[in-house]
Amino acid sequence: MKAEIINVGTEILLGSIINTNSVYICKKLVEVGIEPIFQTSVVDDTELVKIAFKNALERANLIIITGGLGPTEDDLTKEALAQLLGLNLELDLNAKQTIENYFKNNNKKMTSNNYKQALKLKNSELIPNNNGTAPGIFLELNGNKIFLLPGPPNELIPMFEECVLPKLKTDIYLVTKSINTLEISESELETILREIEIYYPEIEIATYASYGAVEIKIIGKGYDLNDLNYKISRVIDTIDSKIHNYIYGFDYSSIEEMLVDKLKRSKQKISIAESVTGGIITSRITRIPGASEVLDRGIVTYTIESKIDELGVSKNTIDTYGVVSEQVVVEMAKGIYNKTKSDYCIATTGFAGPSADKGKTVGENYICIYTEGNPIVIYNQFKGTREMIQQKIANLALAKLTI
Ligand code: ATP
Ligand code: MG
Repeated sequence: MKAEIINVGTEILLGSIINTNSVYICKKLVEVGIEPIFQTSVVDDTELVKIAFKNALERANLIIITGGLGPTEDDLTKEALAQLLGLNLELDLNAKQTIENYFKNNNKKMTSNNYKQALKLKNSELIPNNNGTAPGIFLELNGNKIFLLPGPPNELIPMFEECVLPKLKTDIYLVTKSINTLEISESELETILREIEIYYPEIEIATYASYGAVEIKIIGKGYDLNDLNYKISRVIDTIDSKIHNYIYGFDYSSIEEMLVDKLKRSKQKISIAESVTGGIITSRITRIPGASEVLDRGIVTYTIESKIDELGVSKNTIDTYGVVSEQVVVEMAKGIYNKTKSDYCIATTGFAGPSADKGKTVGENYICIYTEGNPIVIYNQFKGTREMIQQKIANLALAKLTI
């Protein structure tokens, strides 16, 4: 099944809102093995909506249209479709009652144009909307499936989950697995992966890079689930055998997710003293549900004074070796360890740019992982913008802890 998503709404084309509906729908379709082939955004204009819809009918057999089902003048999706297909709009008495009840229950005043929302296309089915007044519409036309859904995501998402997805079930299985890697470039991976892909034509291998971390996605589609799982596990084993040392996990959506998971299982705690990363490592950990079980604290010590005051770094060490040095990062990590006695203590120091101290280079950085009285120091020199350098340091620090 080939799908096209049409998002109706002038706000999208004015750049006033982000088209999150399309991202959500594409993701969901891919999960159930349906291939989205086009995505169109169109302003609230009857003639242009008709053109978008006519084009979609020529190239897709599943069309999902969002937005423009409201009661106002500029909500014209249903009307445009009715005109194009030559179908009448009919008042649905159940929908009319539901809308009247909605207004009564929510103590809102109903206006006459709200009745517009109880109109449905001839031969279509209404999709209930429990979070708003505009019901959706499902229409089957010459073997094509057409869905109309309201624009607000809090209305669209539950309707999509409860009513659209069950109508899209196919007997094709889609299995997705991922391998999380670090310190290997996307281009280096590309060469290795393309060689593997030749032997498995039904499996797609894609890569997604983010600040030095690359996620390898292995996507298989087929009618025989056992066969598919077998082939995917063969692909994973082959990749593992070729790049084992660069893999830090499987099927995690982020490094911090994996770290929190690992520390939760081992019932261990972590504390962080950040300089160059300015709290990024701590913030990324706190975004993971359950972080409170593993994170004791994160301190940002950006100035020399704060490193001395908060962490007990010696002024002499700073004067002798410079603030971006192995000696300072170790003292920072020891400092946070002395305060917290956490199982893992991390410290970062470095130059994110645009300038660095005399004799030093932008991107130079040190990470210290202090565990059981044993400091491990990682030195690196990263290239890129301030943000890139900071995120790369954070990625590396988090990943080293997962190993
Ligand atoms: P309503 O009854 O709320 O008017 P509607 O179906 O007519 O619903 P629109 O008028 O097109 O929908 O959009 C209403 C609001 O929904 C927009 O202002 C925006 O906040 C959100 N919205 C619409 N389309 C999208 C989209 N593609 N992605 C994310 N949000 C959207
Ligand atoms: Mg509207």
